Amino acid sequence: MPAKRIRDSVADCPATRCLEAALVSHRLAHAYLLVGRDEYAKLALATALAKAGNCRGDHGPGEFCDTCSSCREIDARSSANIRVFGDSGFLSVDIVDQFISYASVKTASGCLKVSVFRGVDFFTDVAADRVLKTIEEPVPGNVFLLLSQNSRRVLPTIRSRVQVIKVERSTQVAADLQNAASAPGEDACLEVLLEFAKANVSLSETVGRLLRMASQNSLRDNATAGLQTLALFMDSVLRARGKVPPLAGISLSTEPELARVNFVLDESRVGLFLDHLGERLKHIEQNVNPELVLTNALLELRRMTTHE
Ligand SMILES: [Zn+2]
Repeated sequence: MPAKRIRDSVADCPATRCLEAALVSHRLAHAYLLVGRDEYAKLALATALAKAGNCRGDHGPGEFCDTCSSCREIDARSSANIRVFGDSGFLSVDIVDQFISYASVKTASGCLKVSVFRGVDFFTDVAADRVLKTIEEPVPGNVFLLLSQNSRRVLPTIRSRVQVIKVERSTQVAADLQNAASAPGEDACLEVLLEFAKANVSLSETVGRLLRMASQNSLRDNATAGLQTLALFMDSVLRARGKVPPLAGISLSTEPELARVNFVLDESRVGLFLDHLGERLKHIEQNVNPELVLTNALLELRRMTTHE
């Protein structure tokens, strides 16, 4: 069987090229931030890197056989040389502890230990500090892969200390994602609202963006989606500020960027804001001009922000 390369597992993309070159030249960085929407592709890349770094087969550097005991252990998830921590959607403090203790275990000589952490988008300052300490004093033979859906959400302290690489599954998947980008989900909508709340983008520009979010949908549908995202946005702000408890079993699932936007968040105002959103949704159904409804909702949101 011919030897495999990392690109055979994930497709040829900037991340595979970067890691293959690093393996061949023995210049692997101590930590990478793998950015991309496709969680499976990032995990496949981590697995392929662990195989290539530990394969016992006879082939060139940066390749792997997929049949030796090391490759098989990695596939069976019984290898000591790769471990995946966390979840793509939230962060728990226990997981940070487990990651740190795994990362501090000495690596067997000649092995590459791949420590993977998912959901880096949800790191709080405290979690980031602890993980950074571990990353910056790595035991030899260890490489850290931090997985992110959206690099803009990753704390700058993390982003500045790791090599950021983009993971794309294949050209077909990239094309699918392009199509998805013209019908973006909540995430893109949240980004638009965040920019508005930070006063980076004007009211009229924001209304325009939200109304054109999904070009194939009507203005009414886009306005409805915009209002629903406003409710989600407010909920996320409250969670980020600790005003409503995090989801059960999760210690802190905050979005760091949301926590930095200044809002007047007394209960009566938030309650009123959400009530108004409900009424505004009805107005859209009743054929009130969607642009007007959205403009009024965003004006109310802006009145809740404070700029110190
Ligand atoms: Zn092998």
